[in-house]
Amino acid sequence: MRNDKAAASSVRSVTVLGATGSIGDSTMDLLRASPERYRVEALTAHSNVAALAKLAREFRACFVAVADASKLDDLRDALAGTDTESGAGESAVVEAAARSADWVMAAVSGAAGLKPALAAVERGATIALANKECLVSAGDLFMQRAAAAKACILPADSEHNALFQALASGNRSELTRVIITASGGPFRTWAAADIEQATLAQALKHPNWSMGQKITIDSASMMNKGLEVIEASYLFALSPDEIDVLVHPQSIVHGMVEFADYSVMAQLGTPDMRTPIAHCLGWPERIPGRAAPLDLAKIGQLTFELPDFARFPGLRLAYDALRAGNGATTIYNAANEVAVAAFIGEKIRFGAIAGIVEATMNAMVRDGAARAPASVEDVLAIDHNARNTAATLLPQIALKAS
Ligand code: NDP
Ligand code: MG
Repeated sequence: MRNDKAAASSVRSVTVLGATGSIGDSTMDLLRASPERYRVEALTAHSNVAALAKLAREFRACFVAVADASKLDDLRDALAGTDTESGAGESAVVEAAARSADWVMAAVSGAAGLKPALAAVERGATIALANKECLVSAGDLFMQRAAAAKACILPADSEHNALFQALASGNRSELTRVIITASGGPFRTWAAADIEQATLAQALKHPNWSMGQKITIDSASMMNKGLEVIEASYLFALSPDEIDVLVHPQSIVHGMVEFADYSVMAQLGTPDMRTPIAHCLGWPERIPGRAAPLDLAKIGQLTFELPDFARFPGLRLAYDALRAGNGATTIYNAANEVAVAAFIGEKIRFGAIAGIVEATMNAMVRDGAARAPASVEDVLAIDHNARNTAATLLPQIALKAS
């Protein structure tokens, strides 16, 4: 860990994986506000060449990469007249992560972010981890690699960033449990039968947060909270019994840590990802934020309720996956990615998402796939099998009467 103040005060080279997404946008906004503190090494996207090239020009990036190999010519054209080097394909995104930036934002969406995130981990970088799916997919292996390479993992997900900040108030041995909050999403008060039939447009209407499409659907199903329970377990070495979820519709308290004396330390802020990202970007110092300051008098009330595991089975399945073993969380994530893509493609109803995840977990855990993966290749193989199993199960679950 680079925690001496002198190092943190000098110009920091940064790489943003997933620069054209919602987290990427918030990160670039913070970098834009302090050009004297940051130099951009590399930026990546999947296929949005126009947005990537625009950022490359603005920030004078040394290297940019798109994952979609067919876009290389477009990217080169869009960068004409600049000094920015470019590449395309999965390996080019990994190359971007491997370049020597001090600080890397891992904000690719989905398990596709695993290889690039590991490339940054292997060279011992400081990594702001937004891409929860890569951690859920790789599990302990990711954290073991980070420890071996002396990489510093800073949680950028708002709840985990809150826990990271609150944990500084005590020792790990004094912790009794952590609580992560959930907004409850657009279907918090809906009856189960209505959630089952919810449309794509309804699922994309998040009450508090503005985010990418996949995580917005995950928030509506509460699979996002499930992924976050697993993320908290791996990040902070917590058992499932030490992680509670509270529904908090105002999204002001992001996470809390309870210690042995029952003191509860919480982190609060307006629902704006620029606050946890600023914490990661400045760490171990504090830098000026870009979100609106918190005005509790104006908000008036903060409320909390227990999550409903019956209406949101995706959350229950996350605890089941954690208890089943590392491989089961890889399966949970992969099956959910398949189900969400099918829902976005309007091939299945909303209620089938959790059904597909559960059926995939049942089928594969029964076959012994929950054991901890021994290598990254193992993780990728389990992920691959889970995607195939989910795709095979999808038609019969989609047809089941709701
Ligand atoms: P977006 O969909 O808005 O952005 C995803 C980014 O990743 C884009 O730059 C996209 O490029 C790129 N990308 C997508 N697929 C691939 C791929 N296969 N290979 C390489 N790059 C790819 O997502 P978000 O910014 O919302 O989320 C990013 C991650 O952060 C997710 O893991 C999410 O769970 C997590 N997160 C997000 C929060 C939020 O508020 N948005 C909050 C907490 C965590 P292109 O633009 O070309 O498609
Ligand atoms: Mg979150």
